[in-house]
Amino acid sequence: MTRAVTLNHTKGQVYSLVFDLPDEKVNKLSSMVFVELEQVLDQAILKDDIGVLLIRSGKKNNFIAGADINEIKDIRDSSKAFELAEGGKQILRKIERLPFPTVAVIDGTCMGGGLELALACTYRVVTDDPSTKLALPEVNLGIIPGLGGTQRLPRLVGIQKALDLILTGRSVNGKKALRMHLADALFHREYLDTGLMGFVDKILSNPKSVTSKRQLQGTKNLMLEKNPMGRSLIFKTAAKNVIEKTKNHYPAPLLALDVVKKNYTRSLDRALLEESKAFADIAPSQVSKNLIKLFFTSQKVKSLGKHLVRPVKQVGILGAGIMGGLIGWLFNYKEISVLLKDISWDALSKGFQSCRKAYNYFLKKRKMSRREVELKMLKMTGQVDYIGFKQCDLVIEAVPENLDLKKKVLADLEDHVAEDTIIATNTSSLSVSDMAVALKNPERFVGMHFFNPVNRMPLVEVVAGNDTAKEVVDQVYALVLKLGKTPVVVKDCPGFLVNRILLPYMNEAAHLLVEGASIKQIDDALEAFGMPMGPLALLDEVGHDTAVKVSTVFENHYGERMKTAAILHTFRREPDLLGKKSKKGIYIYKKDKKEINGKIQEMLNQYRLAHSVTPRKISSQEIIDRCIMAMINESVRCLQEGVVENGDILDFAIINGTGFPPFRGGPINYAEELGFDRVCERLEEYVSSLGVRFKPCELLCELSKSNASVNI
Ligand code: NAD
Repeated sequence: MTRAVTLNHTKGQVYSLVFDLPDEKVNKLSSMVFVELEQVLDQAILKDDIGVLLIRSGKKNNFIAGADINEIKDIRDSSKAFELAEGGKQILRKIERLPFPTVAVIDGTCMGGGLELALACTYRVVTDDPSTKLALPEVNLGIIPGLGGTQRLPRLVGIQKALDLILTGRSVNGKKALRMHLADALFHREYLDTGLMGFVDKILSNPKSVTSKRQLQGTKNLMLEKNPMGRSLIFKTAAKNVIEKTKNHYPAPLLALDVVKKNYTRSLDRALLEESKAFADIAPSQVSKNLIKLFFTSQKVKSLGKHLVRPVKQVGILGAGIMGGLIGWLFNYKEISVLLKDISWDALSKGFQSCRKAYNYFLKKRKMSRREVELKMLKMTGQVDYIGFKQCDLVIEAVPENLDLKKKVLADLEDHVAEDTIIATNTSSLSVSDMAVALKNPERFVGMHFFNPVNRMPLVEVVAGNDTAKEVVDQVYALVLKLGKTPVVVKDCPGFLVNRILLPYMNEAAHLLVEGASIKQIDDALEAFGMPMGPLALLDEVGHDTAVKVSTVFENHYGERMKTAAILHTFRREPDLLGKKSKKGIYIYKKDKKEINGKIQEMLNQYRLAHSVTPRKISSQEIIDRCIMAMINESVRCLQEGVVENGDILDFAIINGTGFPPFRGGPINYAEELGFDRVCERLEEYVSSLGVRFKPCELLCELSKSNASVNI
């Protein structure tokens, strides 16, 4: 049987312990691997000629990806979690207590349990390869490091630097790891073996010369970290930052902080035990289960993308507006040549401006130099004709949302591209199949729905029309992954998936506003639920003109349940109340601030008078319930109609497309947690009091009877 851990003689007094999990692309620490590791360590202890033990990986671009999450996923009780943490810890303690020094040789990803193992080694050597990344990403899965990370890292690099990694899950590259003294040496991958031998010689001749740099640097740091008052200030500030960021929805970072705080000065043995107890408390939590489920779905989404069948070297974009400019930026950023076409030079210059704006972020964060940006921008071509389009592998249409215009543009385009050029549309509400009739070859036509702003929104809906060839869908799916975005294949229907679920949420907020809930109350309630912004702020973000236009398309197609709240038409009639783009909507936008628009309040009052509505007191719970129930019902309906493959993918898409709180696992997961029967009951109650828009869909009624899982 092939083993995951082996011990080999390297040279002279140097031995190597090598991780190479059979049939896997990366190394993971599972209970089985720990058993093997312990056996190999016992073998090593018996050898009397080991001067230095190198701990390495047999995988390319990976040291150890972390603990096997499959084992954590199923933990339902604390005692099991405690056992798991303590079991692994004892073996890491064994590494720490070996009678010879150990060197973790990190050339590739070193995450979670992998970094915790490296921290138990005497030294860490890293490479400057871009694949080398070190992190403790446990908080992103709703847990805390359980193999000593919360204790060994602060003791090694200082509390502040350690918290920066532990509380955020952020990764550092080889260079940064060396700078923060997490690593003791850095080598270029090509020279790793030579460098390592020199490093080993130093350890054997004068080990202190290697570790002397680890001392905490700077008077300020010394003053802060070496006395209780200074530490208390660090912990207080960190807690404040965590609460600000997580709004108390994610318990893991605060728990990790507490574990560091309470145990930093304790003996390592005691501190490690306390860490295990805390890990055991949090591992079975629902938030963690939800985040882990999302992690597995994201892995699945990535694994579905095959390699690009044909390389994509040049892309044409029609329309340099809000979307076209930033889609152009994305391809340009990813080193794919872009031809941006519009009908006027003025429009083109706007597209180029938004592209520059997107690059400004990289300049600000010093992730790119001005020269690098200029060089990139030179590779983007603006034009008002089709020159060069015959060489495009893909053309994306992003002209205004008008079926006749789009059909005309597509028919015209087809004469200017090669026979095998894929043609995509970025439409957000029109039918891909309706548009496809304009083309002689509709098989090459596909929806590629990016979200606004393209540089920040991860999701892209890949829409297959009636005639779209499967290879075209596969090629676009793989391309979206290559662009660093998240693809989800959706069925061709108005609004596809995300907008179809988001619109009822905003519409319900408008109904609540008329009935008496205040603007602040509505947006605060949904933010407290965990949405990144309230539905009314979102309405301003989308633009009242766009929202009403899209909503009308939905109303025409889906009927009564998607009827646009009448007040939205009233707001829309004011030409300057478009939302954020006109600086006035539900809110007034001033520089970095927004305040409630008094004019909206006036319009509301007049509307109520005209329609004899007496405002009533509405609880925050009702606000959350109605907006979220509307989303859940439409989500289940999308499953019923096969708009997406299954509930997990739907949840994943809605989280990535709308910011639905990840800790709740997505609308379907949340409904499952509440119980489909309770969701159904609540919707029925709303049908009686508010109307048929709340009528639970058939699948929801079925699920409520059996309370089955939607993913079975
Ligand atoms: P926009 O009005 O900002 O830009 C459209 C651009 O197309 C304009 O610059 C216009 O001059 C240009 N144009 C018009 N006719 C053209 C032609 N024949 N050839 C080339 N260019 C032409 O629109 P937008 O907001 O960027 O929307 C574009 C598409 O993206 C629409 O289908 C829209 O539904 C979709 N979309 C928009 C958003 C959003 O939030 N704005 C989000 C997702 C998808």
